[in-house]
Amino acid sequence: VKRVYAFGKDAQGNNVTEGNTHMKTQLGGKGANLAEMANIGLPVPPGFTITCQTCMEYANADNTWPEGALDTIQSYREDLEARMGKKIGDAADPLLVSVRSGAPMSMPGMMDTVLNLGLNDKSINGLIAQTENPRFAWDSYRRFIQMFSNVVMGLDGDLFENAITSMKNVRGAASDTDLSADDLKELVAEFKQIFSENVSAEEYPSLVVDGSVQFPQDPSAQLQLAIEAVFGSWNNPRAVLYRKQNKIADDLGTAVNVQSMVFGNKGNTSATGVAFTRNPANGEKEFYGDYLVNAQGEDVVAGIRNTSPIADLKHVEGLEEAGRELEEVFVTLENHFRDMCDIEFTIEQGKLWMLQTRVGKRTAAAALHIAIEMEKEGLISKEEAVMRVDPEQLDQLLHPQFDKNASYDVVAKGLNASPGAAVGEAVFSAADAVAVTEAGRKCVLVRWETNPDDLAGMIAAEGILTSHGGKTSHAAVIARGMGAPCVCGVEALKIDAEKKEAAVAGTDIVIREGDMVSIDGTTGSVVLGAVDLVLPELTGDLDTILEWADEFRTMGVRANADNPEDAELSRSFGAEGIGLCRTEHMFLGDRKQIIQSFILNDEPAIREKALADLLEAQTGDFYGMFKAMDGLPVIVRLLDPPLHEFLESPRDLEVEIARLEASGTPAAELADKRQLLSLVDAMAEANPMLGLRGCRLAILYPELPAMQTRAIATAAARLKKEGLDPEPEIMIPLVSVLPELETLRGEVEAVIAEVCEAEGVELDIPIGTMIELPRAAVTADEIATQADFFSFGTNDLTQTTFGFSRDDVEAKFIPRYLERRILPCNPFETVDAGVAALVDMGCTKGRATNPDIQLGVCGEHGGDPDSVKTFHKIGLTYVSCSPYRVPLARLAAGQAAL
Ligand code: PEP
Ligand code: MG
Repeated sequence: VKRVYAFGKDAQGNNVTEGNTHMKTQLGGKGANLAEMANIGLPVPPGFTITCQTCMEYANADNTWPEGALDTIQSYREDLEARMGKKIGDAADPLLVSVRSGAPMSMPGMMDTVLNLGLNDKSINGLIAQTENPRFAWDSYRRFIQMFSNVVMGLDGDLFENAITSMKNVRGAASDTDLSADDLKELVAEFKQIFSENVSAEEYPSLVVDGSVQFPQDPSAQLQLAIEAVFGSWNNPRAVLYRKQNKIADDLGTAVNVQSMVFGNKGNTSATGVAFTRNPANGEKEFYGDYLVNAQGEDVVAGIRNTSPIADLKHVEGLEEAGRELEEVFVTLENHFRDMCDIEFTIEQGKLWMLQTRVGKRTAAAALHIAIEMEKEGLISKEEAVMRVDPEQLDQLLHPQFDKNASYDVVAKGLNASPGAAVGEAVFSAADAVAVTEAGRKCVLVRWETNPDDLAGMIAAEGILTSHGGKTSHAAVIARGMGAPCVCGVEALKIDAEKKEAAVAGTDIVIREGDMVSIDGTTGSVVLGAVDLVLPELTGDLDTILEWADEFRTMGVRANADNPEDAELSRSFGAEGIGLCRTEHMFLGDRKQIIQSFILNDEPAIREKALADLLEAQTGDFYGMFKAMDGLPVIVRLLDPPLHEFLESPRDLEVEIARLEASGTPAAELADKRQLLSLVDAMAEANPMLGLRGCRLAILYPELPAMQTRAIATAAARLKKEGLDPEPEIMIPLVSVLPELETLRGEVEAVIAEVCEAEGVELDIPIGTMIELPRAAVTADEIATQADFFSFGTNDLTQTTFGFSRDDVEAKFIPRYLERRILPCNPFETVDAGVAALVDMGCTKGRATNPDIQLGVCGEHGGDPDSVKTFHKIGLTYVSCSPYRVPLARLAAGQAAL
């Protein structure tokens, strides 16, 4: 097996790159694209890449090296030294290298990097001699020891930061750059001391010299330890969490890139930066990003110093040429990758070097805009444009915004780093964000700047607010990726994380822990207090892409809605009908009382009155629904839930009776309550989800489906007389045997006929059933003889196929199952293969006896992009999902067809 691949030029200037952009599984994203950039003639500092497979072999063998791997690395190191004409660790003219991770999927900031590797007590002299810049050399050495200690040896970064701070205090230096070469030299000695005192001799016997641990002077030892650390970082907790969050497989491993160092911190003609070829926030065609003069790579991303916009670069003295060349590189990259690219670069004494490129992460709005513009530019086809937008990401566009009519005072402004607005309690640490969210409250995470350790808190929080860092800082990149609102770089915020408060400079405003704050990631505004949020109008770009997706998709998209507002909303999102109207949702509030009196009374007069009241209310409900969806099908499902859901809880009743008793209420006055309790108790079931619900309820209480059918037919008849075009369909839930459907169909048809007769109108109301029990799926051929349509209720079908209680398992054990990879994904989110097989069987059998049958799905899976793909393959007529998922389902269905 080939474990190492060279990239870049040899000493004669010939390209000796062995990899390319298609080798991401072996070389990782960074390694593959460094190779690609070298291949298309861009300036890439030479180096080599150790494969991801080597990382996995190393990890799987309990952190031991596969045979021969170290020898291969050694020979590639020698080759690199020959290509550069310098040796790592050389006392006269040392080669310095960076050692960086690079997984097949981008995992920004999740894994480890070591810079300036190869410096030691001898090579420092070579670096001083070569650069004639002792300050730079000593600064590089102290950075190396600091990074190596923190990243490779796992020492606490504060040990070193504190040493720098006290040095600055002693010297009266305001910033790091005020420290002299001698100061830095002294720091190097101190850092080595910290290293010796904090690294365990037992753990690292090879580092013991003369009885104590010493900072490794041998470049081979430095290199091997650094590579091992990068391999190890694949399994660090934050990387594991990130992979889980982003559904990235654990067995991919990371590559390691060993690359000649170039320096952005060699003075005012040196710089470093990160940039995008288009604006990743809104997709505008403009160069976007930040740079810092006289700085090393990590300084930009870490947000430690505030940066300048990339467009200014070509106007800066000494950087003009590199700035212009960079803009040419942007164009070359876009034409080559046919997509928006994100890059890292360094300018060393006026010379531009490319350190990384990849297809850039972007907000949903930017993804849409870029896809459409690139199609117009002829760079990509319409099909590609549709494929370029991640359906899950569309959620972002449907994110809440500040209500324009709300009045509020903006207390500070920052960068609009990730769109959408968030409201919540201010919290000042990731741990607090997690705690507040677990307590069921909403929060906004306020940080000086985030780092990868904050990930769990960033996921938990509604939004992220930072006082430092640019639009490419960690907070901004991660928030955009997650679709979380983020305002960053709010310089006016003076955060005291220890005291858990933030003062707003120039005012007497202090934001304290627990105070409600609102942030708007679309505008960069920060507000003290809770601002009302509203949902945005869909943008033109979204419409365009969805229309393109509609051209390709073959599956219909309907919505699950049970009130006219939701129906109208889903219609505006492009729903082609209602796939599921859950009528039990219409029985809340006062209606609950009415249905209770029906259920709990034997007296015919009371029951009839209750039914009459329900009929009137339901007729109004359906009238509103059919009107909102005029001309489009509306599938109304007859009552489904266990009957006792409409009743008081017996536990509450018992408590109430006990309390009344204790307060001396006479027994006679409690008789009614006691009787109610015994009635309610009698209805309780051990397994309500498998009990008296769905069609079973309709068979036990035929008055209920008759009342509902009458309401549906009457509402439709009225609308027809008004000249509208109602298209109701009636769905019978939870059927397991044909006679259930046969019986109810007969009763429903009889009522429809009565209404037609009474109202003097013709009504053609299809009658179908849900397939949500395995028995129904496997006998679908029989059931289809009595059904005009099937709608697969994949929520219950998942529950009953697995025997997983849908109300319990997602909190109880699914997370553990996912962690341990016992299940690949939550089956209530993404349809499981076994459940899908039942759907497939149901379709095939249903069509066999009823070729015209309409086949849809109305479980939550109808709004999940992966499930939509599965349903497309099975050949369903449509999917139905909640209103806000409709745009996403349209896009996913379009993509499934491509
Ligand atoms: C289903 O079971 O998938 C379904 C849509 O019905 P409900 O969620 O109302 O049980
Ligand atoms: Mg169901």
